[in-house]
Amino acid sequence: MIEARPPYSHTHMADFDICPKRYLHKHVLRDCPPEPPSEALLEGRRVHEAIASYLAGRPDAPEPASKLPTRFRGTSPDQGEVLVERKLAIDGHGRPVSWQGSYYRGTIDFAIVKPPVALLVDWKTGKRRENPAELEFHALLISCHWPGVETVSAQYAWLRDECFGQEFRIPVKRLLEQHRKKVEAMQASTFEARPGPLCGWCPVKVCSHNKT
Ligand code: SF4
Repeated sequence: MIEARPPYSHTHMADFDICPKRYLHKHVLRDCPPEPPSEALLEGRRVHEAIASYLAGRPDAPEPASKLPTRFRGTSPDQGEVLVERKLAIDGHGRPVSWQGSYYRGTIDFAIVKPPVALLVDWKTGKRRENPAELEFHALLISCHWPGVETVSAQYAWLRDECFGQEFRIPVKRLLEQHRKKVEAMQASTFEARPGPLCGWCPVKVCSHNKT
């Protein structure tokens, strides 16, 4: 029997929410034909790398095109521990583990951690859409690595619109349980196709609903 399996990232869970069949082929069977990365994906990578270099204070880093990251340049140590493009992984019980063999994992774009609070920012190059799911997943990873954190104040930074999005104040207490329930639903799934607007941008060519 085919089952969902770790590692679980936000992308895996988001793909499952869009369409269980899409998740199955992309992340479990991994049988989608290889495609070159889209220009939007490449642009997103370039922007993230540029912001990370700038915020890490690399002397040769140019100013990023957006002014939003400048707010965080030169954060002093007494403001908290600064994370830039930090990979965090945990096991199914929320214990920090290495990336390989992890259960949940993700990369934090930018955060300042000073228990009992943390500030979390996720750079976005696409269209504005205020869904806190990715922020909640990353808040879970932070809270498991810094157990003193009780609340994460999290925002997307919409680089195209040059503005910060809604501020989500995320209590971390029940995040592990919430994500465990999501994974249980994935593991119990029979991976039915769920046709929708994204069938026009789906890598699952064997699906009869594919419109690419
Ligand atoms: S084409 Fe549509 S229904 Fe088929 S796997 Fe992709 S998203 Fe799901």
